[in-house]
Amino acid sequence: MFVDQAKIRVEAGDGGDGVVSFHREKYVAAGGPDGGDGGKGGDVIFIADDHFSSLIDFRFQRKYVAGRGENGAAKRCTGKSAPDLVIKVPRGTVIREAKSGRIMADISGDEPVIIAKGGRGGKGNQHFATSTRQVPRFAKPGYPGEKFDLILELKLLADVGLVGFPNVGKSTLISVVSAAKPKIANYHFTTLTPVLGVVRVSAEKSFVMADIPGLIEGAADGAGLGHAFLRHVERCRLIVHVLDVSGCEGRDPIDDFEKINAELERFSESIAACPQIVAANKADMAEEEQIRRLRAYVEERGLPFFVISAATNQGTEPLVYAVLQKLETLPPVKRFEPEALPEEPMLGDGEGDRRFTITVENGVYYVDAPFMEPIMRTVNPDDWSSLQYFERVLISSGIIKKLEEMGVQEGDTVSVGGVEFDYVS
Ligand code: GDP
Ligand code: MG
Repeated sequence: MFVDQAKIRVEAGDGGDGVVSFHREKYVAAGGPDGGDGGKGGDVIFIADDHFSSLIDFRFQRKYVAGRGENGAAKRCTGKSAPDLVIKVPRGTVIREAKSGRIMADISGDEPVIIAKGGRGGKGNQHFATSTRQVPRFAKPGYPGEKFDLILELKLLADVGLVGFPNVGKSTLISVVSAAKPKIANYHFTTLTPVLGVVRVSAEKSFVMADIPGLIEGAADGAGLGHAFLRHVERCRLIVHVLDVSGCEGRDPIDDFEKINAELERFSESIAACPQIVAANKADMAEEEQIRRLRAYVEERGLPFFVISAATNQGTEPLVYAVLQKLETLPPVKRFEPEALPEEPMLGDGEGDRRFTITVENGVYYVDAPFMEPIMRTVNPDDWSSLQYFERVLISSGIIKKLEEMGVQEGDTVSVGGVEFDYVS
């Protein structure tokens, strides 16, 4: 089974907690704070691997979780950071966030891409001693790692896509012009997976051709197999539209041509706008008159027209050269750019409504967050666990992240529900 779409969950590791500890030594009565920082949580990283050609593995394992950073320890020991989790995907995999649908990455190149960042470790109490606070009985909890539900979509990286009705000879064509060896048979839908073939024109010149199977009328609505495969045409720079000029299955090639183009148009504007070259196949079985009629129709539409017989490998060479020439005038294979998260209003993903806004006045950051009010009433600034809870809420609701984006600095005053405190990173 060829699987080119999958839904998975990835969770980067949370940061380890900073700890509270005091230096202890014989004969030293009260040592200073020496609680170490927590380690960083592991990132979730994606990388292209050419050993994979489908997303089938992601049907079996759907959840990917990176490790948590270790907590800090006494004597200023920083906790160990967790290793990153590296996920290998076939080249051409486009990663979307399920919730918003935005594209997060296109894994087409060789660079690894961090999709979910591990949380920073919390700071230990060693950082929090000041002249007025010599016995800091608190430390910072680790920051949560990013967590996403993702949709993976494989969009093949091919220069040229072969489209056409079943049985017109697409698989035969790719098998004679490249080293690809797809299944060829005289019944519809023999090709169940898109096949990529490298067409070598000379020592330096080659291009990648994809046999896109099973496009038929209604494919954009999911009829036949075509719909699932149309996304692979999305990156193609050029379409070779294969027609059976002999009409040996009782259909009219002009009719086929119009139906396929209508399908492409319905699926996507960019595919419909992709330049086409028409290959009139099965010329060995066609009458002169059939070829003349199709040629007149195609040329009237300003498209290049090639008469071929894939089965006997006649006329394929001029077609290949024309494809190469055309490709040299076209932009490179399309890469999908990551899309930014929509701006404000920012919503935390905890229970209830965690909407908030932050404004800055005279250097003070005012956080207006109705959901914080009950928490503010119960928080006890002298109690470490109570403070830690307060912090966790500030972090998990996204308030800290937003403050940092707004440029908050160490020591700045932050006011939440009328309670002011100093910002410490
Ligand atoms: P696809 O469904 O478009 O991939 O078509 P195939 O390549 O599987 O071919 C379908 C049938 O048409 C097979 O039986 C082929 O042998 C035959 N065929 C393909 N090209 C030609 C050709 O140029 N001439 C003739 N006579 N038959 C062909
Ligand atoms: Mg085929």
